[in-house]
Amino acid sequence: MQASAGTPVKRVIGNWKMNGDRVANTDLLAELKKAGPWVAEVAVCVPFPYLGDVALSLQGGRIAWGAQDCSAHESGAYTGEVSAAMLAEFGCRYVLVGHSERRAGHGESDQLVADKAKRALAHGLTPVVCVGETLEQRDAGQTEEVVKRQLSAVIHTLGPCIPQIVVAYEPVWAIGTGRTATPEQAQAVHQRLRQQLHAATDKAARISLLYGGSVKPDNAVELFAQPDIDGGLIGGASLKAADFAAICRAAD
Ligand code: PEP
Repeated sequence: MQASAGTPVKRVIGNWKMNGDRVANTDLLAELKKAGPWVAEVAVCVPFPYLGDVALSLQGGRIAWGAQDCSAHESGAYTGEVSAAMLAEFGCRYVLVGHSERRAGHGESDQLVADKAKRALAHGLTPVVCVGETLEQRDAGQTEEVVKRQLSAVIHTLGPCIPQIVVAYEPVWAIGTGRTATPEQAQAVHQRLRQQLHAATDKAARISLLYGGSVKPDNAVELFAQPDIDGGLIGGASLKAADFAAICRAAD
């Protein structure tokens, strides 16, 4: 779905994290294909080994697919890493970069995340740049400063390419906890992110800003109704076809 000049595409992207197996994935995708199509653009970001299966299953349909990380390097002696070029070969449309589980668990810096986003764009992938504060940072009143710093590295690294990214605001305290940001809390941060993007590009109005963090069918409608929330990045609920389908519908 194409956005007009001043409106972002509505998107719902599932993040399977390190879950699934070949049988369960086949069932999940079959149910999802039956449940769609949706007006919103829908995608699933899956573990690397399943990209081939998922690409075959979703080829020619309306659900896109992507990966959960990529290397900041082009190729070479980087054992265990997966390049953006390889993901492009598998028909990936998206790649998550800077998910908080990678920032925290793998020490990914703001600059590394920005470099990954740049590498993804160079291979025609859309980087979904994740930003978000921890509970300690929120309690210390640092939310705005933290997400601004995280996005700033990407803005400076990508320069004029910045309109090609998707941004996902994911407060760390809301991920996988069942504790979601209120629509007002989420909108307040999204509004600041949009302002920051406006300062960087005259095309900021068309950049999709997704909210992630314990989105479920029963809170999705209200979250997605906020003026600067253009859909969601969905973890746990993306593993249940009925829940994910309902969340996709909520973004329509
Ligand atoms: C995520 O991991 O990106 C996420 C948003 O997880 P959950 O929906 O389970 O909170």
